[in-house]
Amino acid sequence: MRILDPHIHMTSRTTDDYEALYAAGVRVVVEPAFWLGQPRTSVGSFTDYFDSLLGWERFRAAQFGVRHHATIALNPKEANDPRCRDVLAEVPRYLLKDGVVAVGEVGYDSMTPEEDEVFAAQLQMAQDAELPALVHTPHRDKLAGTRRTLDVVRESGLPPERVLVDHLNETTVALVRDAGAWAGFSIYPDTKMDEGRMVALLQEYGTDRMIVNSAADWGRSDPLKTVKTARAMLAAGFTEDDVDQVLWRNPVAFYEQSGNLVLDPVPGFTEGAGPAAGVEYEGSSVLRGVRA
Ligand SMILES: [Zn+2]
Repeated sequence: MRILDPHIHMTSRTTDDYEALYAAGVRVVVEPAFWLGQPRTSVGSFTDYFDSLLGWERFRAAQFGVRHHATIALNPKEANDPRCRDVLAEVPRYLLKDGVVAVGEVGYDSMTPEEDEVFAAQLQMAQDAELPALVHTPHRDKLAGTRRTLDVVRESGLPPERVLVDHLNETTVALVRDAGAWAGFSIYPDTKMDEGRMVALLQEYGTDRMIVNSAADWGRSDPLKTVKTARAMLAAGFTEDDVDQVLWRNPVAFYEQSGNLVLDPVPGFTEGAGPAAGVEYEGSSVLRGVRA
């Protein structure tokens, strides 16, 4: 099984997680720039964060055989803080860097006028840089938020096939599919989508333009939710090829539009040979959970 996790915040995860991801077949990850919990008070703390996503985190992932990429943006929540707004002037130069596969996460948190402005401005940056966009939908008032999101995408002129609308559920999936965009689902341990509901959506809507991620971060989350969804698909009668489409070929097709996706194995981590010597993780409880 080969997996690309298209939305995972590895900065907030441990090396045990990288080892477990590799062991479970996750070879490529995309880490969207996001809110870090503690409010940032200056542009410098954003640019240090972007540099760390594109430098340190990429290096750290490679040590465990995982190809790491990032999406760059001012996130919707901090779009509301005037101290953060000037980061918009810095985003375009980051969009030109190696390893950047989209503009993101952009979209709505509380649907304020500030968020409107920042969302539209960054979709324009995606146009200018010829990159796809990863769009976050709000956790509250999801249906209205998704409708408004799709209106803004339409007005931006960005082709819908260059847009992945994320954190969808049963109430929002049809809107996004009808708009021609990619549909993203974050699978969580105890909130929002779970594996069983995801499988039901795949049975209803099919496997085209459907993308699954773990969205793991510093909250209660599980970086192996992609793998667990794949296993739930197989258990429900989907084929290995269906699993490969949803967990690998779909996210590859979406992010390949950037021209910056690297899929070759990390040197020293050839397929079938397992992780490089010295990487030992048999005792990981996370891994035991997956094998059980
Ligand atoms: Zn996220």
